[in-house]
Amino acid sequence: MASIWVDSECRIIRTDEQWDTLAEDNNASQLIGEKIKGSLIWKYIKGDAARMFLDALMTRVKISGKPYILHYRCDGPSKAQFMRMMVSRSDDNTFHIEHDLVRTEKISPEISFIEDKEAEEERCAVCGKVHFKGEWFDALTNRRVFGSLEELRTRTVVCEACEPKVYLSNIKEETPH
Ligand SMILES: [Zn+2]
Repeated sequence: MASIWVDSECRIIRTDEQWDTLAEDNNASQLIGEKIKGSLIWKYIKGDAARMFLDALMTRVKISGKPYILHYRCDGPSKAQFMRMMVSRSDDNTFHIEHDLVRTEKISPEISFIEDKEAEEERCAVCGKVHFKGEWFDALTNRRVFGSLEELRTRTVVCEACEPKVYLSNIKEETPH
């Protein structure tokens, strides 16, 4: 479990100890709380779609007033990571974003998907599937489809199947209070 808190303008307020441990374990000590405090969270999220999706989730929580849980994938080259993210809002208008690693599975042989805005192939920021040869494939269950490829450049999107999990279809105006 790793948590980050942001204010209503999406500036990072603080992170918890687990967040910092995770950053250090991933050789990303530039991401520990003390270093990112006060910055906009968008600076640290790769890909426009991933940014849009967090923005959409926060809007969703703002409108409904209820915490929202989203299951998503954040894979490494040799492992599928099933993640759970919960976004909630406190009375003081700050947002709490919590990430949990639910389980991992091995992807073999490994394959790297490299974020590239110009890439033709798309990769969904939620389910992790890759649009390849005209269809959506999960590298965990359909590794064969990618053949001998060891890496593939992909552009982050939210696929159609995942859109309803992220975006509200009928956004009702929040009643001011
Ligand atoms: Zn998807």
